[in-house]
Amino acid sequence: MTAQLNARGDVAVVVPAAGAGVRLGPGAPKALRLLEGEPLLVHAVRRLAAAPSVRVIVVAAPPAEVEAVHALLAPVAPVTVVPGGAERQESVAAALAVVPPEAAIVLVHDAARCLTPPSVVERVAAAVRDGADAVIPVLPVVDTIKEVDAEETVLGTVDRSVLRAVQTPQGFRASVLRAAHAAAAGLHTDDAGAVEKLGIPVRCVPGSDLALKITRPIDLAVATHLLTLPENGR
Ligand code: C5P
Repeated sequence: MTAQLNARGDVAVVVPAAGAGVRLGPGAPKALRLLEGEPLLVHAVRRLAAAPSVRVIVVAAPPAEVEAVHALLAPVAPVTVVPGGAERQESVAAALAVVPPEAAIVLVHDAARCLTPPSVVERVAAAVRDGADAVIPVLPVVDTIKEVDAEETVLGTVDRSVLRAVQTPQGFRASVLRAAHAAAAGLHTDDAGAVEKLGIPVRCVPGSDLALKITRPIDLAVATHLLTLPENGR
């Protein structure tokens, strides 16, 4: 049976957390790296569990760590843990497979975006509840973006006013996410990408600077500082 959190919630969250985190340098799987003494995954799940809409959390863990991850998260929130796959997309599919069929709204949230505030979770869920099939939290792009060729010669400057940097959690009507995953032929880097390929509109809502993805060592340093701000504490 899938462990339940808030009985009044209408949202299931799938948390892919099975990545190695090669870009962070050698060490434990990324979701289990420590940020101020606690694994990234613990920070992420604590914030998800604090969102009132969330009823079910399913984590896709590195296959060798399923038991350990379950023991780690049990004091934080009731969660279901499944073995992840070789690609993020496979990890999402494995977790989605055990989401209870009655969950009408499914969010997919990278464990690596471990400081994402509960308010972003609620904003995404509310937009799906409001009728959108697919919802992504986004930020404006601040850098100038150039398109280059294979020799790193600039081909042109992209109009950044029409660009958005995309975060998670991404939210979906459950049937739409299942259909997108079933139809996905190639690999996609985010779940909304698979929904776009079905021709289904994806709605943007404001993301958060706190929802940064921990990818490189500098991101861990930034996150460590962010945790010292009182509003982001444990
Ligand atoms: O590698 P990247 O930073 O894009 O990973 C995004 C999220 O997907 C991370 O939380 C990572 O743990 C997860 N992931 C996964 N299974 C994989 C690869 C990545 O669950 N095989």
